[in-house]
Amino acid sequence: MQEHPDIDVLISEVGPRDGLQSVKSVMPTEAKCAWITAEAGAGVREIEVASFVPPKLLPQMADAAEVVAHALKIKGLTVAALVPNFKGAENAIRAGVHKISLPLSVSETHSKANLRKTHEQVLDEVRRIAELIRSLPEDQRPGFEGALSTAFGCTLEGPVPEDKVVQLAAALMEAGCNEVGLSDTTGYANPAQLRRLIRLVRAEVGEDRLSNVHLHNTRGLGLANALAALEEGITTLDSSLGGIGGCPFAPGASGNIVTEDLVFMLDAMGINTGINLNRLLKVREIVQEALPAESLYGFTPDAGLPRGYGRGGWGLGQEAA
Ligand code: ZN
Repeated sequence: MQEHPDIDVLISEVGPRDGLQSVKSVMPTEAKCAWITAEAGAGVREIEVASFVPPKLLPQMADAAEVVAHALKIKGLTVAALVPNFKGAENAIRAGVHKISLPLSVSETHSKANLRKTHEQVLDEVRRIAELIRSLPEDQRPGFEGALSTAFGCTLEGPVPEDKVVQLAAALMEAGCNEVGLSDTTGYANPAQLRRLIRLVRAEVGEDRLSNVHLHNTRGLGLANALAALEEGITTLDSSLGGIGGCPFAPGASGNIVTEDLVFMLDAMGINTGINLNRLLKVREIVQEALPAESLYGFTPDAGLPRGYGRGGWGLGQEAA
């Protein structure tokens, strides 16, 4: 993985994966590539570009290897992908990704319903993937994150015990992940819970092994949660351009936190993400054109930037476009 000493917070764009896998429309490969290029051009350093799942399950991701091949040509971009199992990891590694992320649902009911696997079966996949990674030459090994999904509550089980999250974080590390992340898959998290869980997990696995949270804005708490995570020392935040994907449980609500709104908040606070907000806002045109039937979300894009933004006292002084 690449280090970014010149920025304060790393925004990891997950729209091409989390967003696109939850919309009905299939985005053409060229449009995905144009999106990734434009967003990297706006200064985004890490993009989760695809999910390596069987195309018959998710036709939206059938071009995963092609999209990765394109993204790898972009200098300075960390190319990440989601993998559900060993087979997916093999394909992602063959495609050449820099980072893979494997979800482990803390709710075992959710895990069985979605991946048809118990916790122990998922951990077995993790062990096999870790072994595969270790067999590669050192400079070709991707980063390997275990993503604790439904960490803040589950639509099937309801509340998720915090000690279960901690226990599974430890199990993921023991099985061979380099780091763990906390995912609010269902949009249940609140800032107090987020702070508590970050501290508990870090006390178990080590501070430097939990640097990323994945938040949804289902109930409008996305940015409040992001701020709570930052104040706990989290340095990587997942978000999605236009918050695309929606949420099947809350019609009209956006899915992931909206990258544009997150960048606006951080920028206005003087926290450097390395992203040019004016250029980022323009990337929406590519996505909207390729997905005419989908809604894009975001308060900042709707309201526009404040008067005088980027000229002293407002944000980091990025040039007006
Ligand atoms: Zn998500």
